[in-house]
Amino acid sequence: MFEIRAKDGLGRIGRLEINGKRVDTPTLMPVINPKKSDLGASEMRRLFGTQMVITNAYIIYNSPTLKRRAQEEGIHRLLNFDGMVETDSGSYQLSTYGDLHVTNEEILSFQQTIGSDVATSIDIPTPPDAPRKKAEEDLTVTLTHAREAISSKRGALNGTVQGSTHTHLRRRCARALAHMDFDIHPIGAVVPLLMQYRFYEMAKIVVASKKEIPPSRPMHLFGAGHPLILAFAVLLGCDLFDSAAYILYAKDDRYLTPHGTRNLADLLFFPCSCPVCNTSEPSQILAAGEEERTRFLSLHNLYATFLELKKIRQAIFEGTLWDLVESRIHNHPNLLQAYRVIKNNHKFIEEYEPATKRSGFSFCGQETKWRPIVSRTKGNLASFKTNTFAHPLFGNVPKELSQTYPFHVEEEYKADDKKMVMVIADWQFGKGIGKKLFGDFRIEYGQTGKVRHIYNGELLATLRPKDGLFVLTREGGRRLHDLTRKPSRRVFVAEEAVPFVRGGRDVFCKFVSHIDNAMRAAEEVLLVDERDEYLGVGKLCLAPKEIPHFKKGVAVKTRGGSPEEYE
Ligand SMILES: [Zn+2]
Repeated sequence: MFEIRAKDGLGRIGRLEINGKRVDTPTLMPVINPKKSDLGASEMRRLFGTQMVITNAYIIYNSPTLKRRAQEEGIHRLLNFDGMVETDSGSYQLSTYGDLHVTNEEILSFQQTIGSDVATSIDIPTPPDAPRKKAEEDLTVTLTHAREAISSKRGALNGTVQGSTHTHLRRRCARALAHMDFDIHPIGAVVPLLMQYRFYEMAKIVVASKKEIPPSRPMHLFGAGHPLILAFAVLLGCDLFDSAAYILYAKDDRYLTPHGTRNLADLLFFPCSCPVCNTSEPSQILAAGEEERTRFLSLHNLYATFLELKKIRQAIFEGTLWDLVESRIHNHPNLLQAYRVIKNNHKFIEEYEPATKRSGFSFCGQETKWRPIVSRTKGNLASFKTNTFAHPLFGNVPKELSQTYPFHVEEEYKADDKKMVMVIADWQFGKGIGKKLFGDFRIEYGQTGKVRHIYNGELLATLRPKDGLFVLTREGGRRLHDLTRKPSRRVFVAEEAVPFVRGGRDVFCKFVSHIDNAMRAAEEVLLVDERDEYLGVGKLCLAPKEIPHFKKGVAVKTRGGSPEEYE
């Protein structure tokens, strides 16, 4: 079971629950080698707060000792880890050595026996640039194995998307898997692309898969765990990453950073303040024995990766993920080139992009103009032509909107407060609505002397300082309801939840019967029953396209009564 707790672009902070274990996404599953691990899973949990690890069931299956122990003790005791354990099936061995000494049914059944939290069927990792015919043949096997897994399903399952670099095959595979009862969708066979810095192809594959995979299922970029690409991959909708990179790079004396990989020998200083870098100098580590060097680099590599994931989660929370990604893509020319995927898919991404954020809009460089919010905003501006100023990104913008998201400019244009209230309301709720909504209103000013509350008889709306947009009270919502016709701005609440929503309770996804698809996450929406009777007003938390997929989680945060909660 997965729920979205915050979102930005196609990225989300999510919570995954399987077998009573909880994982906060986006996150990294370190790869644990069951034969020999220099860093154990429990140590990772202590040091990095690791909630989920991945190990290879095929390696365990093939080792008589490990197999017996796993069957007797279970995978969690074998790894000494009480968090979520995902197991892979041996597809990697298949791609590397060409054959497997186990059938799909046997390895699935084995994963269930040893208590894996998320099991994987044998998929065929077709390498990049494979002929279309070969990719299609492999895909047939992958999908047959996926169907076998579903027919004997007893726990959470991975449905791996394959199809080589043929994006239409990736999409076809994802569509087929979306119709089966999978829990997580890994995007397979992208490691060769990452190794060759072919980020544009990777990004195209991710977006093609994302278009078909239900938003309620986490997407896992299989084999990707380099901090350089994490923010971009999250922006495109990836939730889970796994990595053996921390140890593979460590064994090669390579040091991971979000700006790229460094050779230990090239470092005069450590550009990092993790606990191990803080207490050592590169010269000391270079002079140390191989074992100590590998351990040092493994630890740093994991600290750096988990730190980047924390930054990404915080960026989603405050609505600055685009800014973070646009700073990261300048760290590699191919990453900058890959960002074209945003321009080429802006219509698709726009539907998931929130209408406003906790933080203001930043212009980070030429690529900023590709963000879907730019085309959306320019389109909406077409009917606002008077009393404008020249905005560097959006063109002619009414002066009354100079402090409203996404326009915020340093220079505050003098505007009549009453007129400003009208223009903001028109911008937010539709041309011509402001005057009718607020009528002959009175402004109450805040301590800083800025417009705060709008009264007409009673409190109708509050201007939120952080984004210069209105939050409606229940009465304000009632008036907007009278002024608009269904289904405009409405979320229709299922019959059984009506009494609760009318009483001020939040609307859960499963109780939304339908919704105005023109709405975007973070907008003010009207809550109505099936007969369009007004129930209340609230903030939409998800995109209309996401809501039908979720059984869990809040779709609309309902506004109660007091102005204090209108932040
Ligand atoms: Zn470090």
